[in-house]
Amino acid sequence: MAGKRMTLTEAHSLAETCLLRHGCDAENAAAIADRMIEAERDRCHSHGLFRLQWYVSGITSGRVNGQARPSVERLAPGVVRVDGDGGYAPLGQKIAHAPLAEAARTNGIAALGLVNMFHIAAIWPEVEALANDGLCALAMTAAYPYVAPAGGIRPLFGTNPVGFAWPRRDGPPLVFDQASSAMARGEIQIAARDGHSVPLTAGIGPDGQPTTDPNVVLAGAQLGFGGYKGAVLAMMVELLAGPLIGEFLSFESAADDAGRGGPPKGGEFIIAIDPARFGDADGFLDHGERLFAEIAAQEGTRLPGERRFRARLETPSEGIEIPASLWADIEALMA
Ligand code: NDP
Repeated sequence: MAGKRMTLTEAHSLAETCLLRHGCDAENAAAIADRMIEAERDRCHSHGLFRLQWYVSGITSGRVNGQARPSVERLAPGVVRVDGDGGYAPLGQKIAHAPLAEAARTNGIAALGLVNMFHIAAIWPEVEALANDGLCALAMTAAYPYVAPAGGIRPLFGTNPVGFAWPRRDGPPLVFDQASSAMARGEIQIAARDGHSVPLTAGIGPDGQPTTDPNVVLAGAQLGFGGYKGAVLAMMVELLAGPLIGEFLSFESAADDAGRGGPPKGGEFIIAIDPARFGDADGFLDHGERLFAEIAAQEGTRLPGERRFRARLETPSEGIEIPASLWADIEALMA
């Protein structure tokens, strides 16, 4: 069966229609479709249309509230909490942006806990949006237990990404967003779907032995990046995006799911910093540029985020290619 090529607008409309058809209201469908198509636009396929089936299954199973109305609460001058009303994360994330940015400007620094929501996906959109408003931002989230603690063989931590953004005077901000595991879960699932192998460092089988077979890794455990260092970072993320804000640890999220295999319920923790309030309001932007210039001066380097920003210039005219296996899944959802 052939795949499918379409424009970003067509892909957005497809995602929105599919979500509406399966029980989302207009606001939630639009917010979720925005997030999926932003990922497709930036060629981050593991958070694009690949996730549509998951989004739909959470709603049709009755577990996720497709009509969620997230609410904002100010817990302290610099602490914002957004309750997602048991819906998917994108609407709560969208609503959280303005109060967090305002609290950061008022206080110099502010933090946000996003709770009671499902499937926090790639986290660069949150930090990039804050940096577009002139703020520095750090975000993290924990989800299902996929990664073994260093030396262990059973999954305990999520693949727990950390995202960071720094505003720049000209052009898009500096943004990185990376899993604390050697590979993102979605990339391993895509490798399994498409019959590709994964690097030996990605994970271990149920017997604790390293393997390049993505299906064996999915049955066993993923590994942190850089040996024990990624696992230690994942532990920090568990604490800040879990107990600190009153949300699940990854293994608690899996227990809550009770084997249904649906999208994970969990929290996201974001810190926003107003760099104009830290003593070098006039100099910090140019000072940061000095670092970027030194990096660029070394052949073979690039800044994180550049691949995405380049893709963003290309996909509006080129469109996106949906692989045959994914297109078959989407057609079944739309039938
Ligand atoms: P990658 O390893 O692909 O990239 C990590 C970061 O490094 C990106 O910001 C990337 O920028 C940057 N980068 C890559 N190569 C270079 C280079 N040569 N020089 C400088 N910077 C570079 O990401 P991951 O696979 O770790 O994660 C993919 C996505 O999955 C993330 O968005 C993450 O949030 C998401 N994720 C979500 C989880 C969840 O539970 N919600 C769990 C785990 C991951 P660029 O984008 O420009 O390539």
